[in-house]
Amino acid sequence: MELWQEMLRQSVDSGKDLVERFDFDPELAERLNKLFHIRINPYYLSLIRYPNDPIWLQCIPNGKELDEDGLPEDPLAEDSHSPVPSIVHRYPDRVLFLTTSQCSMYCRFCTRKRKVGDSTKINMKYIQDGIDYIAAHSEVRDVILSGGDPLMLTDFMLEKIVSGLRAIPHVEIIRLGTKMPCVLPQRITPKLCKMLRKYHPIYVNTHFNHPWECTPEAKKACEMLADAGIPVGNQAVLMKGVNDNPDVMLELVRKLLTMRVRPYYLYQADITKGANHFRTPVSVGLDIMDKLRGHTSGLAIPHFVIDAPGGGGKIPLLPQYVIGKNGSQIILRNYKYDIYTYPDVEEEVAAPTRTVERKYTRKKSRPAKVYEPDKVQV
Ligand SMILES: *Cc1c(COP(=O)(O)O)cnc(C)c1O
Ligand code: SF4
Repeated sequence: MELWQEMLRQSVDSGKDLVERFDFDPELAERLNKLFHIRINPYYLSLIRYPNDPIWLQCIPNGKELDEDGLPEDPLAEDSHSPVPSIVHRYPDRVLFLTTSQCSMYCRFCTRKRKVGDSTKINMKYIQDGIDYIAAHSEVRDVILSGGDPLMLTDFMLEKIVSGLRAIPHVEIIRLGTKMPCVLPQRITPKLCKMLRKYHPIYVNTHFNHPWECTPEAKKACEMLADAGIPVGNQAVLMKGVNDNPDVMLELVRKLLTMRVRPYYLYQADITKGANHFRTPVSVGLDIMDKLRGHTSGLAIPHFVIDAPGGGGKIPLLPQYVIGKNGSQIILRNYKYDIYTYPDVEEEVAAPTRTVERKYTRKKSRPAKVYEPDKVQV
């Protein structure tokens, strides 16, 4: 057994563990354990400094998860964009490929709570169907391995999938969405890197949310991936009490660059049942973006996005930099709120006129399902 597998076996993973190690009320611990899986490996556990700190909030269950919030289980309507159980095909040229239900840690804010940890919903038996679907759809040029966490698979299984995808001529790039460099950096081994580099172009997107996660172990894992020629990006989720603060986010994105990780997305927390306590006002995210752009390396700036409820995909949001128009002059402000006037180029009035046809359709959000505790499947 490899070290990372041994570490996983030593995880805090039951209601009983919560009672013994964190003094949970036994009845609450049991209800939480039934609602969504618990798994905190000894490495990630060691990052906790005090109760309810930003690390704790991400991994230790909280009674608020049981709130009757009436929020949807599948806020991004992924299941309705699933032509086969292992594929989410929302965008024209790329797909998510769900390869395992397992995660090295079960994040309390997870959007896919309804599925992860449940091997009846994400299962190896659907993998061949996924590869067949991709092979039959020549428009798919980008495949994102997700789950669960694809690095929960053994190197052997992962290689079978990655080599299977590489054999499909129209698949140009393969991405891995994995939390391992952050939550279990021991998973990034020389053997894994040596295997992956045979199948370039490979990209990794990982998931750091707080500067305390940027440890020497995590740095080493990211450097090993980068040394194997794999560009590493980061997708963070904005969360109340974890990172909803410009100074914390500034420290995080700077540290990531020193670990050779490029900040990619900053997500507004999804409207997921049992995770409402993490949501922040959109203005908090915009304020953070305002305090990053111009104040630190452009390389460190992620795109702030909302994943549209109901499955419209990611929608980018920016603070307002265009503050007005004066004839052909555009009035702009910079990162210090100094005002600048930019003389725009007058549009030529030539026939045929270029028109941008705009088709806005309003998607009705689906009625929220009512949360019924005794119908929850675990
Ligand atoms: C996020 C996402 C992708 C990838 O989006 P990019 O903007 O290309 O990183 C693809 N498919 C689905 C369903 C997604 O949610
Ligand atoms: S690693 Fe990803 S899929 Fe797994 S629990 Fe965390 S957010 Fe969800």
